[in-house]
Amino acid sequence: QLEGRRLAALANAPTRTRDGTDIRLLANAETASDIAMARTRGADGVGLYRTEFLFLRHKDLPSEDEQFIAYRDLVLGMGGLPVTIRTLDLGADKADAAGLALRGEENPALGVRGVRLSLRYPAVFTTQIRAILRAACYGPVRVLVPMVTQPDELIAVRTLFKLARQDLKRENVDLPEKLPLGAMIEVPAAAINVRSLLEHADFLAIGTNDLAQYVLAADRGNDALDNIYNPLQPALLRLISHVISAGRRAKKPVSLCGEIGGDIRFTALLLALGLCEFSMHSSQLLHVRDRIAMLDYLELRKLAPAILRARTHEEAELLLSQISC
Ligand code: PEP
Ligand code: MG
Repeated sequence: QLEGRRLAALANAPTRTRDGTDIRLLANAETASDIAMARTRGADGVGLYRTEFLFLRHKDLPSEDEQFIAYRDLVLGMGGLPVTIRTLDLGADKADAAGLALRGEENPALGVRGVRLSLRYPAVFTTQIRAILRAACYGPVRVLVPMVTQPDELIAVRTLFKLARQDLKRENVDLPEKLPLGAMIEVPAAAINVRSLLEHADFLAIGTNDLAQYVLAADRGNDALDNIYNPLQPALLRLISHVISAGRRAKKPVSLCGEIGGDIRFTALLLALGLCEFSMHSSQLLHVRDRIAMLDYLELRKLAPAILRARTHEEAELLLSQISC
């Protein structure tokens, strides 16, 4: 109970390392209760709103108005804090009630999923884009594109937003002034070639659940691969570090919204790699804020070279276990 009270006291505290570096904590939130919890636990915004849940709930596709209401309620629920709406990420492990995903793909995780699927159905995608544009008049919204592999996908999404804006304008619908567009970094090619994406993206969000799956060629849901699907795999750590550094150089925000962002076993590691924006399930916000307050950012940064030299995940684990707090 004491532990509960100590954590509760953190709800209104800033997220700051022991040596005074401010860190942004965002929520991965979809349901009304996640969104309420994000507020009561002092999230700085929503870093990942997975819109596919709207499509999975329905037998048919959700209409523009249904989507608009959900997105507007999210924006209003966050009371002026920024929210990041991810465009549809169906396919692969995400079952598909609306029947959009292609049937009979031999390898759906490497198939037409995420933005690849959205671009294949421009009319369905445009319905979502119009709903997002309308909701963005109610507060600050950013748009996040899943499964980006190469720049032309971001360029195509921007074009669809531009066309939807023109149509809505003709219909005399209010429009937001700006709407930052970001890329999920969860495909290895996107991580390696991140500089080319930064020319077209306003921000990045690293999706380590999929990035680990694709870098390690290990299904994220297959328990038999636990020894390989490990967030401390050196190849994954080097990619995460590369993306954070590239974002920093381009002066564009980089967040991380995979499961490890909300897991306090990895908080020190991610700070060491220079991450200053974490997104996690609302239930993890206080735990991560608590952990961050015990850590020295500048001391951790000095450990980055050693962490990036680790040859195995066991070696990386050993290094991490030596961080005291
Ligand atoms: C990820 O891949 O890390 C991610 C956040 O997206 P999702 O889990 O929805 O695929
Ligand atoms: Mg993903």
